[in-house]
Amino acid sequence: MQNAIERAGSLWRFAMHFELDPELQAFREEVRAFVRDNLPEDMKARQMAAGSIFCSHDDERAWAKILAKKGWQVYSWPVELGGCGWNAMKSFVFEDELYKGFAPPLSFNTLHMIGPIIYKLGSQEQKDHFLPLMRHGDVSWAQGFSEPGSGSDLASLRTRADLVGDKYVINGQKIWTSGAHEADWGFFLVKTDTTCKPQLGMSFLLVDMKTPGITVRTIPQINNDEHHLCEVFLENVEVPAGNLIGEAGKGWTYAKMLLEGERTGSSYIFWNKREMRRLLDMARAEKLNGNPIAQDPAFRARLAAIQAELTALEWSVLRVLADEEFTYGTAAASSVLKVRGSELQHAITEAQVDLIGEKSLRVYSVHDLLSDAGTLWPDHVVNRTNMALLTRAATIFGGAKQVQKNIIAKAAFGL
Ligand SMILES: Cc1cc2nc3c(=O)[nH]c(=O)nc-3n(C[C@H](O)[C@H](O)[C@H](O)COP(=O)(O)OP(=O)(O)OC[C@H]3O[C@@H](n4cnc5c(N)ncnc54)[C@H](O)[C@@H]3O)c2cc1C
Repeated sequence: MQNAIERAGSLWRFAMHFELDPELQAFREEVRAFVRDNLPEDMKARQMAAGSIFCSHDDERAWAKILAKKGWQVYSWPVELGGCGWNAMKSFVFEDELYKGFAPPLSFNTLHMIGPIIYKLGSQEQKDHFLPLMRHGDVSWAQGFSEPGSGSDLASLRTRADLVGDKYVINGQKIWTSGAHEADWGFFLVKTDTTCKPQLGMSFLLVDMKTPGITVRTIPQINNDEHHLCEVFLENVEVPAGNLIGEAGKGWTYAKMLLEGERTGSSYIFWNKREMRRLLDMARAEKLNGNPIAQDPAFRARLAAIQAELTALEWSVLRVLADEEFTYGTAAASSVLKVRGSELQHAITEAQVDLIGEKSLRVYSVHDLLSDAGTLWPDHVVNRTNMALLTRAATIFGGAKQVQKNIIAKAAFGL
């Protein structure tokens, strides 16, 4: 078992040697230097301590503005809209470096969800108004799809919007709406016709979160520090008819486009790689019977197993990026990556918690660390329990694991 990880690593390199071409390597260095020189130290410290898949609204905004100055804020959008026109590999390297450098995560909603929906399907007015705001990091969004009783079965949602003159009047309730308490705008899936098949009666509306009749309540979370989940109550909320995306009744089609908008992001590959590095550092620092736990054969075997899964996931992501004609189609490919990536989030954070043993029982949080209150333990203990609790949600949000498996089974076996 001695050197099992290193041996596995060299075998892997022997079997599938992978190097970036010089141009991409130079780009990697450029992004690394940019992060080093432009990411504010306090922001980096918060991200490093939390190690979260999320970040605060303020940090997301501030970092978006820094990226916007460089022209990298909406990098994945078409060049004529302020994007960078990079190919998939260059984009992969870009995000990999941001995560490595502990930059706040980019806004998935802006980059991969509502941004593309607006530039593909929005009216000219919607494009003129929202695209510059998003390009400059001046607007944040919440996604109002799920409702009590309508998560996996989204078609059963009940929030309705009735067209009265030139306004939609919305009544209903959304739940698990991430960041709704701080968002400027929301994109909502609502029922505009209850007389037809549920999927044909849905529409997609943009809603200013300051509109009278909207009440947002945060939901206390088990992971202590981070409160970003919300309930949104809508009571006679009047929204201009011009805020409708595309055609009434096509909301279901647009929502599916949006959910399939970014095939590889659901793998959380960059986060998983970074937290695996943290796990290895922790295994070297934590001791068992006076020796680093990294030398314990059983724990080494566990680390090697996780690393093998992680490497396989990274290659799967690269294969999907490289192969536009992925055999099982877009939805099933992203479902495979989502299932494996979320399971890895569990495996990595659980191993982190096991490493710190009884120290995990006190939820030692980012706030403790940054306020100098937590000097009892080494810094690597901070927030690990919170993250292990938070990542339990990874197999639920963005489509529950069992539902992803249904999609895979349908594509693979025609079930
Ligand atoms: C951290 C977090 C952030 C979120 N952010 C947002 C957000 O910003 N906006 C938003 O709209 N929603 C958001 N959600 C909601 C999320 O999309 C739903 O929780 C998810 O779709 C599951 O729906 P549900 O909670 O209603 O569970 P249910 O659909 O009731 O599922 C309960 C269980 O039944 C299983 N199940 C359901 N249907 C099937 C089936 N057909 N076959 C087999 N098993 C099945 C599920 O896998 C699950 O285990 C978020 C959720 C979390 C946890």
